Amino acid sequence: MNLGIYGFGPVNRRQWLVVDLGVSFAGPDVPGVDLIMPDVRFLEKQRENIVGLVLTHGHEDHVGALVDLWPRLGCPVYTTPFTAALAEARRLGEPGAPKIPFHVVPSGGRVTIGPFDVEFVPVAHSIPDSHALALRTPLGLFVHTGDWKIDPTPVVGNVTDPARFTALGEEGVRAIICDSTNATRDGVSPSEVDVGAVLTEIIRNARNRVAVTTFASNVARIRSVAEAAHANGREVVLVGRAMERVITVAREQGLLNGLPAFRSVEAYGYLPRDKVVAILTGSQGEPRAALARIADDDHPEIALSPGDTVIFSSRTIPGNERAVNRIINALILDGVEVVTDRNALIHVSGHPRRGEMEQMYGWLRPEISVPVHGEPLHLSEHADLARRMGVKHVVRLVDGDLVRLASSDASLGPEVVDELPVGRLLKDGHVLIDSADRAIQERRRLSVSGIISVAVAMTAKGELAGDPVIDLSGLPEFDSRGKEIGEVIEVAVLDCLDGLPKPRRRDPDAVSESLTRAVRGAVNAVWGKKPLCHVLVITV
Ligand SMILES: [Zn+2]
Ligand SMILES: [Zn+2]
Repeated sequence: MNLGIYGFGPVNRRQWLVVDLGVSFAGPDVPGVDLIMPDVRFLEKQRENIVGLVLTHGHEDHVGALVDLWPRLGCPVYTTPFTAALAEARRLGEPGAPKIPFHVVPSGGRVTIGPFDVEFVPVAHSIPDSHALALRTPLGLFVHTGDWKIDPTPVVGNVTDPARFTALGEEGVRAIICDSTNATRDGVSPSEVDVGAVLTEIIRNARNRVAVTTFASNVARIRSVAEAAHANGREVVLVGRAMERVITVAREQGLLNGLPAFRSVEAYGYLPRDKVVAILTGSQGEPRAALARIADDDHPEIALSPGDTVIFSSRTIPGNERAVNRIINALILDGVEVVTDRNALIHVSGHPRRGEMEQMYGWLRPEISVPVHGEPLHLSEHADLARRMGVKHVVRLVDGDLVRLASSDASLGPEVVDELPVGRLLKDGHVLIDSADRAIQERRRLSVSGIISVAVAMTAKGELAGDPVIDLSGLPEFDSRGKEIGEVIEVAVLDCLDGLPKPRRRDPDAVSESLTRAVRGAVNAVWGKKPLCHVLVITV
């Protein structure tokens, strides 16, 4: 859920440059919610002073909140061609999405945005068109790396050019704001071409169908799989809407030149089993994506049989392990062979390991290091690495910290100077709500103990006008002694009304309150849980 802001100028006349506007994916702790976005309350108040939004690359954790949150900022958006085209394709996929003014800057290009001179410096990553930002200001040069790695042979997309970064280092870098994702891993990552070679080998040895699942945005991987398929005389079928969207943009941008066209999903049924490779969405176990539906025998066009092979050319993002393992187990029970990155080099990360970070620090030789993009453990390992590399100041941040990186008063060093309001917004259906919204708390309670609805009609004299109506959702039908819980509730309702003095029985609010307490008490006594209880009192 990346969102960074850079400010320049004195507090009362400060101008802001926003970098990235991403989402995070919600887990079962926020039932019914798909996406989590950063709370942009601070920026909304500073709307007049925002000079622009810059997008480093097209991953959801960097651009996923654009359609929902851009209207609150209303500023020009600067990015490079593939990222702009992908964001635009996503926008068109959402009915009613606002028109967003993109300023497309060529890769390697430079643009002046308010007091910032912004250079888009190409870097290798797991999506094409990724960039670090060289931010030049009257107070010096700052390098925001974005997501990056070093891979001289990335198959598709940018290469991280040592000469360019060395030149930036020679210009003098005040601070590096750098990716920490793989700061716990030693050495350097293998290259995308190594993955391609292993995929070619696995496909060569497969006797029947092969299906490969990977991230839809990993165009290099899709190209590697397609090349491995063609090397073995197999045709490629793409499955999944997200995959089709990315591939359409990638073809328009020339990233798949030289590859034969992919076959439509209908072709899968009649291609011989040893002549096809399907590339699927759903590597994270997403229940509605192609792979989960295929594993559940619930896909209209694609089925797998015993002896087919499924390759997980991906890493399971923490939090998704259960969903992914469920699919793997279902496939194995169906006799499908499963290959994951546990037993073959079929995936490489898009983020730098320590060996690569050391090279970057060597090229840039920054005065200040600000570790970002990682859990506290990763940030802490990154900070240690920066110190080992001789960086003078290492600034540790938590969300919302505003750091002074430079000042016209040279005696002022880097330090946290303010704390800005931060939080999370939840995309709930078509609505954005605060993470503290009652709706989420109620949903959690409902998921644990259900709800009881009771309706009673009372006469003006305070007598019952008919039998109470009781409805239960999410409660067991019988208690441990075999008694119907609905009956327990009915008895509690009638006993409670009997025990109420006449004047209170004529007051609908008092009746409702007493019944709620009585019903929850009675259910707790037999079940050990207190469900939500709605009592509706009608006076007739
Ligand atoms: Zn990324
Ligand atoms: Zn990222």
